[in-house]
Amino acid sequence: MTRSSQPIWAGQTEGRFFTRIEVTTMLNGAMLSVPLHVVTGRNPGPVFGIVTNTHGDEFLPTIAIRRFINELDTAKLSGRLVIVSVANPMATANFGRQTPEQHGRTDLHEVYPGNPRGNTTQMIAAAITDKVLHHVDALIDFHSGGSGGRLQARVDYNSKTPDELKHKNLALARAFGAPFVHENEFAGAAAHYLNSRGIPAVNPEVGGAYLGPEHTRLYTEMMISGLAGMMRHLGMLDGAVKPPRQLHFDLRARREIRPKNSGYLVSHFERPEDLGKLIKGGAALGEVIDLYSYKVLEELTAPCDGYLFFSRYSGAVGGGTQAFALAEAAASRWLDERHLTK
Ligand SMILES: [Zn+2]
Repeated sequence: MTRSSQPIWAGQTEGRFFTRIEVTTMLNGAMLSVPLHVVTGRNPGPVFGIVTNTHGDEFLPTIAIRRFINELDTAKLSGRLVIVSVANPMATANFGRQTPEQHGRTDLHEVYPGNPRGNTTQMIAAAITDKVLHHVDALIDFHSGGSGGRLQARVDYNSKTPDELKHKNLALARAFGAPFVHENEFAGAAAHYLNSRGIPAVNPEVGGAYLGPEHTRLYTEMMISGLAGMMRHLGMLDGAVKPPRQLHFDLRARREIRPKNSGYLVSHFERPEDLGKLIKGGAALGEVIDLYSYKVLEELTAPCDGYLFFSRYSGAVGGGTQAFALAEAAASRWLDERHLTK
């Protein structure tokens, strides 16, 4: 693969390095820049890119990655980790998913490879593409739940790739060790763009913000062990990759349960151990209560037999929001050793 220019980290020796990639000036007079952490190992190896806060309110990976790189012994690291800790600072400053700007296309997750003469969101994508994406051998775009608490623990990979790359994506996704692997739609995502250049890239989607101390700890640890698993898979750390039993499902098997009405969702599935449960078709998942009249507006039930892979905690929901999601049992499959090859 051709690389457009020397990477920012060219010449960096073993150790840690932090810089900022300038994007544009903002109306408040400050420079909009994207933060970049580089951790260089003692031994040569691949460049593994991690992008987080593509959606500005997905904070949990921040804490997990910070701990992971602080504990990482660079003497035992082969290659380099390059981490964009906040891909969309304007969205993050706004506590929101998307860039607050007066144009369309404000979701950074949909505009890659971006455009240096486009809107602000496209300019951010173009800077990350030029300075980071064009210089990595593998990438994860790390997602998590935002302001509403939710249960989820899966790695998504792109359905629209040639078979050889699909196998590489699947093996990288599995090495994270989450209970679910999901073949998903990726148009406009950083991982989709990298896949179009033949580079493996997948998206973990784990936990969320404001989950309370116990669940936060559980998901943080899952993220940390997932990163280590992926790096073992890439040959950056020693050790074998041993994923647990994992369910694979594609978009045809994805069944979302979205309330028609806005209100207070009373969720019947709020514990991490509920993830992966086989739910019978017709079983009650939760109900939506009207904030005004206190009446039950709607009962939410499972549309088919399926494995629970997404569940929202009790709290306010807007009509049309994904409240629960099942991997339809009849259309999903358990993965085995054969899918672990590099
Ligand atoms: Zn996201």
